[in-house]
Amino acid sequence: MTTNATIPALPAVTQPHVMNTYGRVPIALSHGQGCRVWDVNGKSYLDGLGGIAVNTLGHNHPKLVPALQDQLTKLIHTSNYYFTPNAEKLAAKLVEHSGLTNVFFCSTGLEANEAALKLARKFGHDKGIERPEIVVYEKAFHGRSIATLSATGNPKVQAGFGPLVEGFIRVPVNNIESLKKATEGNKNVVAVFFEAIQGEGGVNPFHMDYLKDVRKLCDERDWLLMIDEVQCGMGRTGKWFAHQWAGIKPDVMPLAKGLGSGVPIGAVVAGPKAANIFAPGNHGTTFGGGPLAMRAGVETIRIMEEDNLLENAFLVGGYLKAGFIRELAGVAGIREIRGMGLMLGIELAKPCAALVGRCADAGLLISVTADTVIRLVPPLILTQAEADEMVGILVPLIKAILLEG
Ligand SMILES: *Cc1c(COP(=O)(O)O)cnc(C)c1O
Repeated sequence: MTTNATIPALPAVTQPHVMNTYGRVPIALSHGQGCRVWDVNGKSYLDGLGGIAVNTLGHNHPKLVPALQDQLTKLIHTSNYYFTPNAEKLAAKLVEHSGLTNVFFCSTGLEANEAALKLARKFGHDKGIERPEIVVYEKAFHGRSIATLSATGNPKVQAGFGPLVEGFIRVPVNNIESLKKATEGNKNVVAVFFEAIQGEGGVNPFHMDYLKDVRKLCDERDWLLMIDEVQCGMGRTGKWFAHQWAGIKPDVMPLAKGLGSGVPIGAVVAGPKAANIFAPGNHGTTFGGGPLAMRAGVETIRIMEEDNLLENAFLVGGYLKAGFIRELAGVAGIREIRGMGLMLGIELAKPCAALVGRCADAGLLISVTADTVIRLVPPLILTQAEADEMVGILVPLIKAILLEG
């Protein structure tokens, strides 16, 4: 196992041989415990980012790690030519918690979304629609493959990668009349696709009424309702999946990020309307459903259930949000504090990307998305004391940046 001692301290944090695709914070992390990580120089950080909503159980979880170690000694990878017992076990759990019926496994969020888009297109072709179209949303983020970046509603993600994939109709969030108008008389529409709470777009929740209205419209028009729960799902908001707060069920639900607590894994969960669209040969991926990822998924859900982490996410998330609302009350330049459970956004009236580095200096990892939104998506094991610490570090830094000219 990697320990701090085996990693030499780096003189300067640069990676000349790694492609430069991220604006990285100049720290190199070496290990973690719970909601805390340490860099190679021994400085500790409270983890408000959780590997971008991935580390559901935090770091070095005492129940997860032994299970993964056990799995490593058994099988890491086989192939989809054979059955993997834990794939059925994990699928059954996802079916139980979603109320849907069948699961396809892959390894990442964009892969789960690609599968959803393929399902929607084949759903159309199977009923004689030659040029199926899918409704997507402004500010959406669905991944960085050519199809998923085409579905994404952010020109920065798309710039330089045209021609984009066709067959998308884009509408604004939370406006049912816009959706009706944009699809009026269009017989090629096959699906509506969105995140229940937009993540990269700035932590923008869809309204409960809107979710219900779209469900109804999809039923009336025989469209698939496809909800990307890659970031907002897996217990983060206090229910297994964020759309469940509206009491609806989608037909197709891509998952990834938190599902394996850090082990790469993705899944598409489908209800009766979409469960039998793919037949052998229609779709596949070499790593999908592999033994290590399936074990990680099974153990993640088991531990979430045993340790009541949905409730923890809801309660500690509510406590954290209340802390920010209290401490930032009346501060000029705070646009909105929003989100649910442990998926929170604090929108400022000015760009605030500089806070990422300043927070790191102060011992807190966060991200800023959509230029002006501080995003907190910590592990679901966060404690009230850690929530207090987060507020204590972040609030003065927010106040300071707001005072700058
Ligand atoms: C992160 C994310 C994706 C893409 O997942 P990757 O694993 O990075 O491919 C897709 N949809 C949403 C909502 C996400 O947050």
